[in-house]
Amino acid sequence: MVTMDFVSGNTGWIEVICGPMFSGKSEELIRRLRRAMIARKRVQVFKPALDDRYSTTAIVSHGDMRMESEVISEPSEILAKLDWRADVVGIDEANFFGHGLIDVATKLADGGKQVIISGLDTDFMGRPFSPVPELLCLAESITKLLAVCVRCGNPAKHTQRLVPSSELVVVGGADAYEARCRRCFEPGVSKQEVLEFARPRAVAAEQSR
Ligand code: ADP
Ligand code: ZN
Repeated sequence: MVTMDFVSGNTGWIEVICGPMFSGKSEELIRRLRRAMIARKRVQVFKPALDDRYSTTAIVSHGDMRMESEVISEPSEILAKLDWRADVVGIDEANFFGHGLIDVATKLADGGKQVIISGLDTDFMGRPFSPVPELLCLAESITKLLAVCVRCGNPAKHTQRLVPSSELVVVGGADAYEARCRRCFEPGVSKQEVLEFARPRAVAAEQSR
């Protein structure tokens, strides 16, 4: 993994941490931001208002690591609320910000900021999930994390949605999503519940014949 810890001067850059839910993106973001603070850098952290699953202000990992952040609804608010003395700008849940984040991240890095962005790279159907794929192309450093497949234990790159919805954005945690590998992933909604519901009826129908 390329580490950008030793870049000197006022050069900005973009680091992206991507992967499915439960892969440790928030933990990794918090780890990097803490290291920046140890290095006495000024750090500012932003998260989308949409993501209020665990806390209204802090960014929180599924393992309960947390760090205070500023809550915003539009990526343009990052520029509006930015303390221009900040050296490092952390952005969690980038997938909720949409296309506007691409321009904002570019402006920040061009302006000399170290921008660390964490977000899902694929959606509930396994498709590239804008704006993270575009940000990967623009970044100096990319880290792709994998979770553990809850079905088989293999490395998981997919976020399996468990609740029925075809909306692109459905906010939820372990109640609505789980990590799955390529083989166990069922694009869209898991058929597990349907099969379990269907089984007793099928057996009953078989017995009544
Ligand atoms: P992300 O930001 O990618 O959703 P987090 O940093 O919030 O991930 O959480 C990662 C933590 O989630 C892991 O350290 C582990 O404690 C926990 N976890 C729960 N389910 C899984 C899973 N299926 N695979 C890996 N980690 C998991
Ligand atoms: Zn699997």
